[in-house]
Amino acid sequence: MNGKYIKIKMGIANSYLIKGNSGYILVDTGVEGSFEKLIAKMKEASIKYSDIKLIIITHVHYDHVGNLQIIKKKTQAPVLVHIREAELLKKGESYLPGGNTLLGSLGIKIMGLLKGKQNSFKPVKPDIEIRDYYDIRGFGFEGEVIHTPGHSAGSICLIIENRHCFVGDTMFSYVPFTINPPFADDAQKLYKSWEKIAKSDCQIFYPGHGYIFHRQKLINNLNRKRN
Ligand SMILES: [Zn+2]
Ligand SMILES: [Zn+2]
Repeated sequence: MNGKYIKIKMGIANSYLIKGNSGYILVDTGVEGSFEKLIAKMKEASIKYSDIKLIIITHVHYDHVGNLQIIKKKTQAPVLVHIREAELLKKGESYLPGGNTLLGSLGIKIMGLLKGKQNSFKPVKPDIEIRDYYDIRGFGFEGEVIHTPGHSAGSICLIIENRHCFVGDTMFSYVPFTINPPFADDAQKLYKSWEKIAKSDCQIFYPGHGYIFHRQKLINNLNRKRN
């Protein structure tokens, strides 16, 4: 990965630092307790706390907001979230959706045993609550945020320069053949969101779990759904 897009594995989930004209965006904040992973990457790239201009939360699940409170405090950067999940963020609650795949259903059962600790996090008051669309040019980045419900009601994706798409858990990429997340609130909405994203010119996808992939993987998954 070049210096413009930095992937950071924070516990089980990926966060990303994206370089703009005068600073960075941070996408998601990982599982609680993995804050040092971010510090290490920032040091490596000589990024200061004050260089982070915006924090985008793709959705309010514990594995994406675990370190948000401390990161917001250190960076003083505004936090952007979808309005449908703003209350959860304020309360420090997250609810995993039902299983979308067999493996996911099994995962829910296992995680059910760990409920409580897994599903709560330190609450944060967001600064920007978006609905369908939000232009981030005002922060010095050529990009936009779009609402992509399905995995959760307030899932959002960040598109940079109409080419790079940060998808959160709207697409997983652990294995070569599928992008299906193991959990989803609404599978039909999820596939509609894939179609919506496919209409953009995005070529490179940065998931919340797994490895970065190219457009063809999304197209292959959509073709299978359509048939
Ligand atoms: Zn996740
Ligand atoms: Zn999730």
